Amino acid sequence: MLKNKIYKHLEEREQEIIQLRRYLHQNAEPSFKEFKTAEYIKNFYGKYKNGVEVRYPVGLHGVTIKIKGGQPGRTLALRADFDALELTEETGVEYSSKNPGVMHACGHDAHTAVLLIVADTLIKFREELCGDIVIIHQYAEEVSPGGAKAMVDDGALAGADAVVGGHVWGTAYKTGEIAVRSGMAMAGRSYFKTTITGSGGHGSQPHSCIDPIVAASHFVVAVQSILGRNINPLDPAVVTIGRFEGLGSFNIIPGSAVLEGDTRYFSEDVKLLLEKRFKEILEGITAAHGCSFELDYRHDYAATVNDAKLAEFARKFIEADTGPGLKLRESEPIMGSEDFSCYQTQAPGLYVFFGASPKNKNGEVYPHHHPKFNIDETCLVKCAKFYAGFAVDFLENYS
Ligand code: MN
Repeated sequence: MLKNKIYKHLEEREQEIIQLRRYLHQNAEPSFKEFKTAEYIKNFYGKYKNGVEVRYPVGLHGVTIKIKGGQPGRTLALRADFDALELTEETGVEYSSKNPGVMHACGHDAHTAVLLIVADTLIKFREELCGDIVIIHQYAEEVSPGGAKAMVDDGALAGADAVVGGHVWGTAYKTGEIAVRSGMAMAGRSYFKTTITGSGGHGSQPHSCIDPIVAASHFVVAVQSILGRNINPLDPAVVTIGRFEGLGSFNIIPGSAVLEGDTRYFSEDVKLLLEKRFKEILEGITAAHGCSFELDYRHDYAATVNDAKLAEFARKFIEADTGPGLKLRESEPIMGSEDFSCYQTQAPGLYVFFGASPKNKNGEVYPHHHPKFNIDETCLVKCAKFYAGFAVDFLENYS
């Protein structure tokens, strides 16, 4: 059976996946500046010609591969991201990032290493595939707007009938577990930045100033009332102001204050209600304080909504096929956001989570985006077997 040959092949390549992941980890590059990583990925496929189409750049510098199967059939796209974060690594591992202030602290090195070997494996067995595979190597997932939209606009999905992606997740799932969910999986996100302008002056003379810090402070507190008073308590939503900057001094009232943050939600109604109430409160509070404001408010990532039929197909595959050695879990929806949702606007999509709890001596599991974040590398071959096995199963049996 093709799947079993592929599993055996991937097991033999486990060390190769680990070394590839470590290479990418050492050579971490931040979002939109991951030029060498993109070049490395492109060169990895350089040797292929017949039946394998390599496109680069897709969007700014994404890479896509189309693998033509030996027989005609459906097309499945698999996607992995390859950007790192601007963060100084503190893991102390021997393969720590060589680029100061940049670290793969979200596991995108793992995603990419897995997908490279999955692609290489499917290329080797391509004559036996009954359909086509599209491999999407995406840059800039961590920033807004991310790389997915530009890649989708540039034809990354290449007519795929479905798209599958995933994330290593150490804090919620153990190595060997895979979490699947139908419907709402990850939140949508809107970005905002507002500058509240008053009139600065001497700290001892507030009556001759219009203090934007006081106005902005009232706003920061008032805006949280949207969650408690306007939105149905059964609908999840978040408003976070992560940047509050008023560049005065201990005796200087500044002329303006800048607030920046985002909102998270699952439904379209909540998205629009958050925006409406945000603007109304901002208008009301700045007017009450005699301030003016400028506002940039944008809806950047849609919610990640998994296709129910595809999720059910994945569940059945995981339960029936012991090859990848994965245990099925039902994933909880999370308020984090992903630009994987961009692909889902074009094709039914499924985004899964792979357990990857590292087994360090203290049993500590650091969260994503932490300077000590790491993964259990034994999850890598399991992820690879899932993608490759699911792909074969999809092409042979999905209807
Ligand atoms: Mn990530």
